Amino acid sequence: MIMTIPSQPQPLTIPPRLLMGPGPSNANPRILSAMSLPAIGHLDPFYLEMMDQIQDLLRYVWQTENELTISISGTGSAGMEASLANVVEPGDVVLIGVMGYFGHRLVDMATRYGADVKTISKPWGENFSLAELKEAIETHKPTILGLVNAETSTGVRQPLEGVGELCREHNCLLLVDAVTSLGGVPFYADQWGVDLAYSCSQKGLGCPPGLSPFTMSDRAIEKLQKRTTPVSNWYLDMNLLSQYWGEPRKYHHTAPCNMNYGLREALALIVEEGLENCWQRHQQNAELLWEGLEKLGLVCHVEKAFRLPTLTTVRIPEGVNGKAVSSYLLKEYNIEIGGGLGELAGKVWRIGLMGYNSRPENVLLLLEALRKVL
Ligand code: PLP
Repeated sequence: MIMTIPSQPQPLTIPPRLLMGPGPSNANPRILSAMSLPAIGHLDPFYLEMMDQIQDLLRYVWQTENELTISISGTGSAGMEASLANVVEPGDVVLIGVMGYFGHRLVDMATRYGADVKTISKPWGENFSLAELKEAIETHKPTILGLVNAETSTGVRQPLEGVGELCREHNCLLLVDAVTSLGGVPFYADQWGVDLAYSCSQKGLGCPPGLSPFTMSDRAIEKLQKRTTPVSNWYLDMNLLSQYWGEPRKYHHTAPCNMNYGLREALALIVEEGLENCWQRHQQNAELLWEGLEKLGLVCHVEKAFRLPTLTTVRIPEGVNGKAVSSYLLKEYNIEIGGGLGELAGKVWRIGLMGYNSRPENVLLLLEALRKVL
């Protein structure tokens, strides 16, 4: 017998939220309209041509010439998983810089792939100096160094200048989480000697969530090719995925074509704006936010030099119920901001200015709403 229908669902409606939290961010309408185009076969010549275009556009936003530059089907965590799964073999020493929640996630994942994980840590709100990274590499002699370029839980930017050279001197791969930086914060994969990097579609690129831009250097591919054990994640094995993204265009999995239409359009928008202009826009709007917060008597958690333009952590003042404030913003103004994670839970709000949402009118609206509620 067929089960009874619970109740007749109404057509879906979504409240008109302004997403100023840690992500996702609102997408440019042009992206949404690209996503509503009809699906085509993932081996259709037109689709394959679009994949080539996505790869070229991704190389531009990553600032890399890496052949293996693709969008992984899955959110940022899938990119994180792909980075580790392909180059970590059981027993490899993997050194992770932990300065927030996502560093811990890297540790968790690397451990699951059998790595001998070593960590260095910083209080939540700080980052590592080159000297500290050098000392840790000399002590632990890792095969892979994993760093979070933009720690979304703290709002801290980890500078990468000089780190790639250090890794090369010590025969170590540099793996970077760029989930909250790509598109919104200067990133130079080749210049900085980054060997593996992943991001997401829903933040600086301003697309809905669902894809993870990924890039892998020849050095990292060499490590993959020298493996003595198979990659233990079939879905994210670059030996297989590279045969779909490149010749012989062999079926691997059914690509989420509409998501890739959206990504293609998001990347085209960045090319139209110019990557450096896009970074500059994120910085200018963040500075407008920081000035306004200061005028309201609020304090940013991170020192200005290392603050992310994409994500600002703001200390919740003594006596203020942080959760009540964010609930009020959502209920009364349809504005979403985030709360703290991990060690910063209950201590900060997290305000995102990412992609299409990084605009002065959004900053001014939020500041005015905060002024009213506080
Ligand atoms: N890494 C960082 C720095 C993040 O901020 C996030 C998500 O916000 C992730 C990884 C995981 O990405 P996703 O939630 O898209 O899987």
